[in-house]
Amino acid sequence: MSDDRLMPADWQRASEGGLSPSSPYSFLRAPLTRDLARADVAVVGLPLDLGTTRRPGARFGPLAIRNASMQLRPHGYDEHDLLTPFRQLRIVDYGDIEVFPGYIEPSLEKFQEALSAIASAGVFPIVLGGDHSVTLPVLRALAKERGRLSLVHFDAHPDIWPPTPERPYHHGTVFAIAAQEKLIDPAASVQIGIRGSLSATLFELGIAQKSGFHIITADEFAHSGVTKTLAAVHKIAKRPVYVSLDIDCVDPAFAPGTGTPEVAGLTSREIVELVRGLGDLPLVGFDVVEVSPPYDASEITALLAANLIYEVLLLLAAKAEEGPKPRPKARPRRARRP
Ligand code: MN
Ligand code: MN
Repeated sequence: MSDDRLMPADWQRASEGGLSPSSPYSFLRAPLTRDLARADVAVVGLPLDLGTTRRPGARFGPLAIRNASMQLRPHGYDEHDLLTPFRQLRIVDYGDIEVFPGYIEPSLEKFQEALSAIASAGVFPIVLGGDHSVTLPVLRALAKERGRLSLVHFDAHPDIWPPTPERPYHHGTVFAIAAQEKLIDPAASVQIGIRGSLSATLFELGIAQKSGFHIITADEFAHSGVTKTLAAVHKIAKRPVYVSLDIDCVDPAFAPGTGTPEVAGLTSREIVELVRGLGDLPLVGFDVVEVSPPYDASEITALLAANLIYEVLLLLAAKAEEGPKPRPKARPRRARRP
């Protein structure tokens, strides 16, 4: 790692014993920049909620998640005192990408352009949604760079409604389109937490299964638990892995601030443990979507989202510390029998 890293400004830290608790300038106080040559990880906001089918508000998700990240304090008092994950990683906040009010397609194209720049620079993207339609341009950009991906998808909804040819884009069609465009390989992808009066019907599950996706419903998860679920995920996700986390996978008792809540979901502890268990996978990108601050009593949904991103940063930091994995040695040939 080069030593030309950008640092949080002194006034963003707890310096000289003082604090600035109301300064939502960037995620985890990371430097705000678009200088990708000085980044390993870029946090980027895609503040669009034109794709919601019910309650909007996710356009304010990036701001709320950055704000909630102020409660996380992995900072030393000076720059010689770098703590994990900042010791291992150059983390920057890339800011938000602009949206065009009323025009979903040009907005998605703008997102793809930004994500292509991040992906082609070899920088790991962490995306703050936005509703779930923002994941499509991210997958388009990453698949171009990394090939067809495995999707590890936490959600109450499979988001695989067949798109109509005239108006394909909203937050319920994302993964149908991603599969059609071969951005993801359904056979190497898994959806976890599916439930509710529409999504857990045989009709919707049928579409998902016919498309080849592996499904672990919320009921199945409740019976099999974290360890078995993680084992299943590791068996399925064989390609470069993109993790898409719709915050409505979590029960509205823990994450009420979202557009289409469904009861009887995962607990916040369970989703933290599930994310923690993904470190061995070949991760290439991560998003948290559907945080809708107007419905977020006590800001707990945004706080959970910020913590989940922090968990991913810890996974990436651990990988950076390990360094690249050595290539497996060729198996020694058996000596021929005389
Ligand atoms: Mn979704
Ligand atoms: Mn959902």
